[in-house]
Amino acid sequence: MNERDSEIIEQLLCQKGYCPVDNAEAADVVILNTCSIREKAEQKVFSLLGRLRRQKQENPALLIGVTGCVAQQEGPGLFARMPHVNFVVGTQQLFQLPDILHRLERRLSRNEMAINLEASFSIPPFQKMLLHDSARNHSSFQRFVTIMQGCNNYCTYCVVPYTRGREISRTVADIVEEVQILTKQGVREITLLGQNVNSYGKTNPVAEGKVSFADLLRLVAAVPGVERLRFTTSNPKDLSEGLMRCFAELGNLCPSFHLPVQSGSNAVLRSMNRKYTVEQYLDQVASLRRYCPDIALYTDIIVGFPGETDDDFEKTMDLLKAIRFHGSFSFKYSDRPRARSVFFANKVKEEIKTERLARFQALQSKIRMERNKEYIGKTVEVMVESEGAQQVKGRTATNHIVHFATKRQQSLRPGDLVEVLIHSAGNHSLKGISCPCQE
Ligand code: SAH
Ligand code: SF4
Repeated sequence: MNERDSEIIEQLLCQKGYCPVDNAEAADVVILNTCSIREKAEQKVFSLLGRLRRQKQENPALLIGVTGCVAQQEGPGLFARMPHVNFVVGTQQLFQLPDILHRLERRLSRNEMAINLEASFSIPPFQKMLLHDSARNHSSFQRFVTIMQGCNNYCTYCVVPYTRGREISRTVADIVEEVQILTKQGVREITLLGQNVNSYGKTNPVAEGKVSFADLLRLVAAVPGVERLRFTTSNPKDLSEGLMRCFAELGNLCPSFHLPVQSGSNAVLRSMNRKYTVEQYLDQVASLRRYCPDIALYTDIIVGFPGETDDDFEKTMDLLKAIRFHGSFSFKYSDRPRARSVFFANKVKEEIKTERLARFQALQSKIRMERNKEYIGKTVEVMVESEGAQQVKGRTATNHIVHFATKRQQSLRPGDLVEVLIHSAGNHSLKGISCPCQE
């Protein structure tokens, strides 16, 4: 979501004549688009703002702004804590940035804040607001499309319902139109984005009739030019049979699924308010693999949730062994402002969290390596991302990075699809050679 929001900021400002620069020292305006999902992400924002203070002392005309979740969460507190900040813009107010900068630059105001969070918010059609596509070329073959924003789930550890507000889905017409605009510009891979994409359309009308996330996927998959379709993130509690079937029936839907489980212990899942059990999750994985035997599964794990015992943690390890995820994002639990778990008893000690995270990650790393080796000897379709001096880098539909050698190096462009025979596997990527028939 943040990557897409940063892209929106870039697009809105480029249209007003701003140019992106590669480092903050060269900038007249510095915007920190922030994440507050975990404590560590938030700490980084404050340490970066501390460093920018010096730059502002040397160049008082420099404008410094904070956007995104930390801006939403801290609001006026940010000006109090960091007086060198000029503007604070929350998660629903990005479209105001050009006007805010206009006022600040003409010194019509000294500080600006826009942090309204409305239940009646509708996601602006940013793509249509652009006069021309100002996104940088290197990523123009793959783009994010926001389909919903906010979350109503209130997992007890999570700050998102407070920083992103109520769950709002965009209309089907808006989404399909945006995808059509993008494919006409040459985009070949679309990733549908939302905090909880599979509850799309559940909280506000998105079309005349009822449209589920699975229905939306079918509509987007049918847009001419969509070679690859992905989506993120999903909550297991909203995973329907209809969505699983899409993996069997839609040729351009990538067989790669990020389905955060968070814990392998039912007691912890209950305390997290996740509304599914480990058994239900295992059933979902079995069904997904029936519909799509090649599907690569990715997950998120929190270790050291308040009250997580050694036994609970072992259950998470057991789940990892049982499912053998292709990859995962794993985090130490941290208290977040307004999250209910802040008040839970039996907080887990920092050193235990560190130890559990290291054990989880070591096992995941071993499994990822074994999983990667399963691709050796197979021919996979790779979408080119960049061409290097010796090799080309691309990505499989299952979301594996592939470096491959080819005689066609000169003629390959980002977004091209190439059949690659995999001959070796590392922990983070696969290596191969483009198939002779294409040489
Ligand atoms: N909507 C997605 C997750 C979005 S947040 C879902 O429901 O699964 C991304 C990930 O950050 C979460 O999956 C979780 O693993 C992690 N996370 C969220 N809050 C956290 C916290 N307080 N401490 C540690 N990790 C957290
Ligand atoms: Fe946070 Fe839960 Fe919503 Fe995901 S589903 S964004 S973890 S509250």
